[in-house]
Amino acid sequence: MKKDITIVGAGLVGSLCAVYMSKRGHKVTIYERRKDLRSEIIAAGKSINLALSERGWTALKKVGIDKQVMKIAIPMYKRIMHDEKGALSEQAYGNENQAIYSVSRAQLNFLLMEMAEKEGAVLEFNQKCIDVDLENAIATFQETNTTNKQTVSADLVIGADGTFSEVRNQMVAKNKQEYSYNEIDHDYKELLIPAGENGTHLLDKNALHIWPRGEFMLIALANLDGSFTCTLFAPKKGENSFEGLKTKEEVEHYFARVFPDFTDLILNLYEQWVNNPTSTLGIVKTFPWNVNDTTLLIGDAAHATVPFYGQGMNASFEDVAVLDSIIDKHEDDWETIFKTYQSVRKADADAIGELAEENYYEMRDHVANPMFKTKRLLEMQLEKHFPEHYFSKYSMVTFNENIGYHEAMTKGRAQDKAILNMIADNEISITADMTYEQLEKALQK
Ligand code: FAD
Repeated sequence: MKKDITIVGAGLVGSLCAVYMSKRGHKVTIYERRKDLRSEIIAAGKSINLALSERGWTALKKVGIDKQVMKIAIPMYKRIMHDEKGALSEQAYGNENQAIYSVSRAQLNFLLMEMAEKEGAVLEFNQKCIDVDLENAIATFQETNTTNKQTVSADLVIGADGTFSEVRNQMVAKNKQEYSYNEIDHDYKELLIPAGENGTHLLDKNALHIWPRGEFMLIALANLDGSFTCTLFAPKKGENSFEGLKTKEEVEHYFARVFPDFTDLILNLYEQWVNNPTSTLGIVKTFPWNVNDTTLLIGDAAHATVPFYGQGMNASFEDVAVLDSIIDKHEDDWETIFKTYQSVRKADADAIGELAEENYYEMRDHVANPMFKTKRLLEMQLEKHFPEHYFSKYSMVTFNENIGYHEAMTKGRAQDKAILNMIADNEISITADMTYEQLEKALQK
């Protein structure tokens, strides 16, 4: 039976979910608190970018939008690490041709909104959700900058309204359900490396650049117009923190000291520093994700995490594809659909949350650490020579959508332990261009 569905939030997940639900013939209306950003996206041309990987692609492919997204995506085959002296080293993400992709958040959101409309969904902007009758799927919206309100009745309400979800707030307030939000000790700020002459990229565009510095780090992902969006992750307080970076001298001295080769690429550093916001990062845990057969949380509203595995959006896109396949099995029984969905997804969402936290330490500290470098080299060699039998934790999470996050985490941790023990116990020598025989010999030591 066809349903009236209210989706709260026209972000990445609300828009993709609208595509899926509209394709099933449901009558979908998305309510978004912001204005329609589509004309501005075209005018601005660039924006913050995200790493899109296999799970995300799979969900896009299922509704036939992957080819359009590929046109705005830049493959990144490796990490390039920049040390304190500006020297570079690199680590491939996977085997040859395996890549994660840099995609503009705004352009991707634009495409998904267009696709949702094309499939018949209606988008209403400047509509902030302020109340939900959770058992009866009735949502109230207030028009931005006015006191105008509208109350909308539907069969289902889907909360795709992100980390600070109002739909979830309503579930917590009215049903007293489990909920926590943990803001981490690190904030982030975005900075832009401009394009070089004729729109050229000043760094290798097919790599994710990292300046790992222990307690803090900088990363950069390429944009199509030749620029790079960079993100500084640093502690709120203490040494090398945002707290100590206020004046022009402090900021310029800090960057020249810790990221010297980066400083050469960016002329108006302090101007950007002052104009770009410093934002917080946090982890949302909540349960359950549904109320009866009427209300459901999806994406960051259900399980926002820190961005250090580059999987928040990918996991959330996977949510939508998994929900769709569960609908195939249970057709009109929405309570079973919602319950099955959350029981399937909760363990995976918790796992990717844990992995993302762990990876923060790995990216900050370990990628520049010799033991980690040897481990990564060994993993790459094992993947190359035993492609049917060995997948690193990173590969399972990033490139293998057939393995759930929870399974990837469990297997990956066991493998990591074994590999680290092997490296610690034996002076194992691994190089990037080993033959099968050389690898076998090295492992037999
Ligand atoms: P959002 O993108 O937050 O969208 C929510 C929408 O709901 C917004 O449009 C908002 O305006 C609207 N809304 C909110 N409240 C209301 C309301 N009351 N009424 C109506 N509308 C409302 N993930 C990756 O996979 N790869 C990455 O490389 C990556 N990098 C990241 C880097 C950073 C710095 C951060 C912070 C996150 C990153 N993520 C990444 C995570 C990714 O951004 C999120 O997982 C993803 O945006 C979740 O999408 P969403 O639609 O659930 O939420």
